Amino acid sequence: MIRLIFALCLMTFSAHAEDPILYLHGQPRQGELLFAFATPKADVFLNGAEIKPRKDGWFVVGIGRNDTGDLTFTVKRHGKRLEKTFRIQPREWKIQRIDGLPENKVSPSPEESARIEKEFAATADARDKKVKMPLSLCFQMPAEGRISSVYGSQRILNGEEKTPHNALDIAAATGTPVFAPADAKVTLAYDEMFLTGKTVLLAHGQDLTSSYSHLSKLDVKTGDKVKKGQKIGEVGMTGRATGPHLHWVVMWRDKRVDPAVFIENSKAFCE
Ligand SMILES: [Zn+2]
Repeated sequence: MIRLIFALCLMTFSAHAEDPILYLHGQPRQGELLFAFATPKADVFLNGAEIKPRKDGWFVVGIGRNDTGDLTFTVKRHGKRLEKTFRIQPREWKIQRIDGLPENKVSPSPEESARIEKEFAATADARDKKVKMPLSLCFQMPAEGRISSVYGSQRILNGEEKTPHNALDIAAATGTPVFAPADAKVTLAYDEMFLTGKTVLLAHGQDLTSSYSHLSKLDVKTGDKVKKGQKIGEVGMTGRATGPHLHWVVMWRDKRVDPAVFIENSKAFCE
């Protein structure tokens, strides 16, 4: 399918060498990670901010859970310009109640809040590291198990409304292997975070990152390079967790996207 689209794109491209083109694989919806194709070597902008596509023209764009408004793409090549605008479509979210969590993990003490903030900053620093590597478009699920919490659900912990769950939870027995979903660089392997326990952060290129939390064991360290399918750790319940599961976050720049939709969209590139 993608190969066909790619061929058609290139045909259009060579037939009208002057006219830039843009193609989106995926829906412009909240939580989506879009795969997009623009005329190779063109200058590409999203809402005025520059994007650097791969040499073959493909790039990714993330849409946050609460994002609204328009996505305006501008593609410029050889003095010609294409502008395309998409309205972000809203999605509906689940409401999830979890009771019986230790009170200090729901409403942390001032010291714990300071620790959480410090760890959050370390994570943000690692995520902002500019990692230059060719982004692979074919990703696989990082672990086998049951989806126990979907992306976007509004969480009510011990009766308190919390920030939405912008991740995918895969419930599996402690010790279940967790694999890199694609080639990546380990930008952080942290032994014990207050909320997320043993945590690994991967950078995949093109500002796409992913993280793996509550692990019982780490198999990588900060700075390692990993290959798709390489074991990076094991499922556990370190940090704030009521049972063993993998808390999986996928981010583009500072936007957390829906890992399930991402994997679905990615399949077209795994042929
Ligand atoms: Zn989770």
